[in-house]
Amino acid sequence: MLGSLRSIVQEVNSARDLPAVLRIIVTRVKQTMTTDVCSVYLRNVKKEFVLMATDGLNVEAVGRVMLTKGQGLVGLVAAREEPVNLDQAETHPNFEYFPETGEERYSAFLGVPIIHQRKVMGVLVVQQVKGRTFDEGEEAFLVTMSAQLSGVIAHAEATGALVDIHSDAGPTEAKFMGVAGAPGVAIGRTVVAAPPADLRAVPYRRCDDIEQEVVFFLEALAQVRANVRLLGDELANRVNKEERQLFDAYVGMLDDASLGGEVMDRIRQNISAEYAWSEVILEHVTNFQSMSDPYLRERASDVQDLGGRVLAVLQQSNQKKIVFPENTILIGEELTASMLAEVPAGRLAGIVSVRGSSNSHVAILARSMGIPTVMGAVDLPFTKLDSREMIVDGYHGSVYSDPSRNLLLHYQDIVDEDLQVVRTLESLKDEPCETTDGHLIELWVNTGLAADAVLSLERGAEGVGLYRTEIPFMLRDRFPSEEEQRQVYREQLAAFFPHPVTMRTLDIGGDKALPYFPIEEENPFLGWRGIRVTLDHPEIFLVQVRAMLRASEGLDNLRILLPMISAIPELEIAQMLIMRAYEELVTEGRKITLPPIGVMIEVPSAVYQARELAARSDFLSVGSNDLTQYILAVDRNNTRVADLYRSFHPAVLRALKDVVDASHSQGKPISICGELAGDPTAALLLMAMGYDVLSMSATNLLKVKSVIRRVSLIDAHELMLEVLALPDTESVYATLDDAFKEVGLSRMLKPIVPINR
Ligand code: PEP
Ligand code: MG
Repeated sequence: MLGSLRSIVQEVNSARDLPAVLRIIVTRVKQTMTTDVCSVYLRNVKKEFVLMATDGLNVEAVGRVMLTKGQGLVGLVAAREEPVNLDQAETHPNFEYFPETGEERYSAFLGVPIIHQRKVMGVLVVQQVKGRTFDEGEEAFLVTMSAQLSGVIAHAEATGALVDIHSDAGPTEAKFMGVAGAPGVAIGRTVVAAPPADLRAVPYRRCDDIEQEVVFFLEALAQVRANVRLLGDELANRVNKEERQLFDAYVGMLDDASLGGEVMDRIRQNISAEYAWSEVILEHVTNFQSMSDPYLRERASDVQDLGGRVLAVLQQSNQKKIVFPENTILIGEELTASMLAEVPAGRLAGIVSVRGSSNSHVAILARSMGIPTVMGAVDLPFTKLDSREMIVDGYHGSVYSDPSRNLLLHYQDIVDEDLQVVRTLESLKDEPCETTDGHLIELWVNTGLAADAVLSLERGAEGVGLYRTEIPFMLRDRFPSEEEQRQVYREQLAAFFPHPVTMRTLDIGGDKALPYFPIEEENPFLGWRGIRVTLDHPEIFLVQVRAMLRASEGLDNLRILLPMISAIPELEIAQMLIMRAYEELVTEGRKITLPPIGVMIEVPSAVYQARELAARSDFLSVGSNDLTQYILAVDRNNTRVADLYRSFHPAVLRALKDVVDASHSQGKPISICGELAGDPTAALLLMAMGYDVLSMSATNLLKVKSVIRRVSLIDAHELMLEVLALPDTESVYATLDDAFKEVGLSRMLKPIVPINR
């Protein structure tokens, strides 16, 4: 049964739309369980369970039979959220007879709920004429099937609103949900950003000149054919006869009459060569994968490999350059910093990523750039949405493709209103960040791109609390040299002079990869990250520190920050290396001041050793993004657990407070540079806890300032004490919301930074 399970799931995964998904399920499950009926009921908007597909019951009943939760046996399965297995269904008190189904002949009934993200979306039923009890194995099979299919069904349902791209009917508005990534609303036209040679990420594009496209395609095919032949010849003496035959088989597959022929048929329907090729290859991959012969199943990866090679050639030789429209909405499966950087300055209006969540680094980057962003839009069929009109609602995490005129007008109003708020806040730029009772707190910014400096200074930033040096590293194709780094760092230090600039040493690993230094790990967030990487590579660390120190010559506004410190020796070794670089430079005759060296508190061990870390360093800075994920054991990048990532969880709040006390007990200043600092509500609590500096995306700075200027430290302190005593996140939200309403600040609660509240 395991084999059938896998092949059904594979077939379902490659089905084009919801009806096809359901058709495959009912026929294949009925066949595998050798039963008389298999049907799927799905919940509609009125919360009724509607018969959507059947193999065995009267097909006329599809779309007509509807049951509410608790009604009939199907409704009972939905209400109980567990299987119902009956050998004589008609004797059950819940049995309800629908004449249109022809159901009276079937006695045995097994129904299992289809549950996605805790919601019952439907019921999967098998029935049989002869009274019998489906055995435990069969029940387990159907439960497994349903659990595996629920995500696919949910995806197919969500994308079902989208008109078939191959049809001639015009596109219709469709809504997709994700998580809010960066605040704001963007209206624009999409461009799909895809990594090269990825068959599953090729955007659907049409071709205008069929003949030219066919020639272009055949040339690419011929090139790869020649390459594969060459490879076969080279290996001829080293491989056995069967393997040699495999090469010949590949060359054969690349024949115009084989895969090539199928692709050309699609090109003749005005589909681009890249898309047509990827579609054909993926269909063949699926066919191979669902074969029962393990040898043939293995061949799926060969076809995929071959497909990738041809695609790479097609993409390399494609001279049609991507045009980035005025208001580009960049969409893709997993966007990277370099993909954002490819969009010409001033054209990037919005971002939508299928993967990731609000604390992924792309989202952080987007916030610092002030680009409305939605992350984790898992159901977005991004490859089919190239060059379409789109609205990105970065406040609520929703995305609309081909929006109606009314929706456009509605969102245009929000864009205008936002612009108005920004203009109003601009007057605060040069005002101090001071409470009504005279307490001053500094608002600094987090940066990474050269462009961040302009926006930050326009917003009145008083320093840089976190300069993410990995960002300039990500935008290159090799490690930058000492001199290249010096220039980039100098620009940052000079732009903010005389304000302090806190430069964090290279923090890669986790979800931050350098294209030229891949780190492949089972569990990257608990792996080789941050300081662990650079201490293992002192040559990288020393070059970076030397570049920072040289860049600071004559400015003296540098502070160095060490990421992911989880033990005292890591700090000590890093300090020793920094001293070594400093002494080298002094010996070379440079006039450099030794900068303050600080520690990031972002893992629980550092919270518990904050006192010792503070005693041994010059300052602490809390990285609440990572600290939250490690305290709560919730991957900051995983959409599936995004709603468990709660920055206002009492455990997180208490850790934040303990760290302040530990740092101050050693007479050392402490700042916070996680995204939490940019949330106005959180900012009040953090100020009351005693943080000396809040460092945030420049986009949030004025809003935070405007809130702090309207409250007193005494009130904020009282609120903080009340909140710290609460047992759960919900009570924290409720208390904070009430407090904000009371002082007339609820308008400020419009999510300006998408912390999961
Ligand atoms: C953090 O973890 O809070 C932090 C500021 O660092 P990053 O988001 O770059 O991991
Ligand atoms: Mg971090």
